[in-house]
Amino acid sequence: PLLTYAARAREAFNDVPIVLGGLEASLRRLVHYDYIEDRLKRSVLIDAKADLLVHGMGERATLEVARRLAAGDSIDSMGDIPGLAYRVVRGICPPANAVVLPGRETLEADPERFMEFQLTYQRQAHPGGTPVIQDQAPGLVVVNPPAEPLSQAELDILYSLPFTRNAHPMYDRLGGIAALEPVRFSITTHRGCFGGCSFCAIYFHQGKQIASRSEDGILTEAECLAAHKDFKGTLSDIGGPTANMYGMSCPDAAQCRRESCLFPSPCAKLPADHARMLGLLDRVLGWQQRQKRKIHTTIASGIRHDLALKSRDYMELLAGYFVGGHLKVAPEHYCPHVLHLMHKPGFEVFEEFEARFAEASARAGKQQYLVPYFISAHPGCSNEDALKLTEYLILRNWRPRQVQDFVPSPLSLSTAMYVSGRSPAGNRIVVPKGRADKKLQLALLHYWDKRNARQIEHYLTARGRRKLLAQIRRAQADAQRNR
Ligand code: SF4
Repeated sequence: PLLTYAARAREAFNDVPIVLGGLEASLRRLVHYDYIEDRLKRSVLIDAKADLLVHGMGERATLEVARRLAAGDSIDSMGDIPGLAYRVVRGICPPANAVVLPGRETLEADPERFMEFQLTYQRQAHPGGTPVIQDQAPGLVVVNPPAEPLSQAELDILYSLPFTRNAHPMYDRLGGIAALEPVRFSITTHRGCFGGCSFCAIYFHQGKQIASRSEDGILTEAECLAAHKDFKGTLSDIGGPTANMYGMSCPDAAQCRRESCLFPSPCAKLPADHARMLGLLDRVLGWQQRQKRKIHTTIASGIRHDLALKSRDYMELLAGYFVGGHLKVAPEHYCPHVLHLMHKPGFEVFEEFEARFAEASARAGKQQYLVPYFISAHPGCSNEDALKLTEYLILRNWRPRQVQDFVPSPLSLSTAMYVSGRSPAGNRIVVPKGRADKKLQLALLHYWDKRNARQIEHYLTARGRRKLLAQIRRAQADAQRNR
């Protein structure tokens, strides 16, 4: 839609500069892999023939561009604004210190260099980084480092604006927007994530510096939500990209080149202190108790389970008050080398979390369950690896429904693995790309589903795994009975 919007805008207002923004533009700021078209594409700046592109959470850059345009500045004079990308046209001089990234033609000719491109850009994609320049063939694009995150006071002002929390009325006759409902009465406590999971591009959009709102600002929003005419008594989520990073900020984050504070091992400077998070949750509970009607708040954003283990008090509060029976957790896989490529903690960390969560739930007198999320066909995951996970699931009698077939989204490290066939360390890795392998891995994790019976039978029979096949058939029959 980005290209269409830009084209329509140009048709209607031919002499008005076009500034792209939002998540799609942000992640397609450089040469990127497009999964639907299965090819490398140029920056959307070039294809949309736009003047500027705001990447990341765009408030600062958008405001600065608007201020300068209002002051009569040329659209070609914005090259110093952080969080902006622009084309080198009309005599614009790229910054002399710009880091040169491999260009589109180079990457097309040698996709293995896509990992080099990714890692080179990643090292500059923080507020203290250096601009990068990339040949789009034709055209050059410069991408400035991201803007600093908003301060607590700025976030408070932003979130106190009178958002309606309603879809545009034009959607009413279409039955509304289903995706709005789960988030309509939820509260964003912070931005950013320092987890650095390989398959997630949030590092490139929100950054890894955590920018948190104040407790007062969050509670004021809770009051507003509770007063909304459609509010039914449940705040469906209080969280952010990762729920339990609220209030954790590292003073060195702006200059830091690591894309994860947790991987490969937690950084010594990691501010893994849950104190602010605990203070906030305590205040939310106090606020709930003072309300005339019963209000319940859940944490539905994903939590980082290795981080949660660092605070017993957080585990107690979480299990005791903020889980509605089921808690989503993302171990993502079982095999150590796949988890390593995903930049996730080892599976034993998940098992420890599972045990601590069960204990905390028991102490709270609640019967609660984890809903584990897994990814199939991630780069580095062979069909045999998927089968190892299946065997573990059978051992535990787990029948996961939350399995995501890996989709290489623009700018994620996993996508660079997918395109280059290399790990970040430069080693060749297996990449399940074909439809058959991707379908098989997804089927193996949905082993209990009768619809996958033939595919699994074919695969296991060829490998002489008759005993395992019998177990799977029993699980499928059982799932059918309990449907
Ligand atoms: S210095 Fe350590 S804790 Fe701070 S941002 Fe960098 S990796 Fe994270």
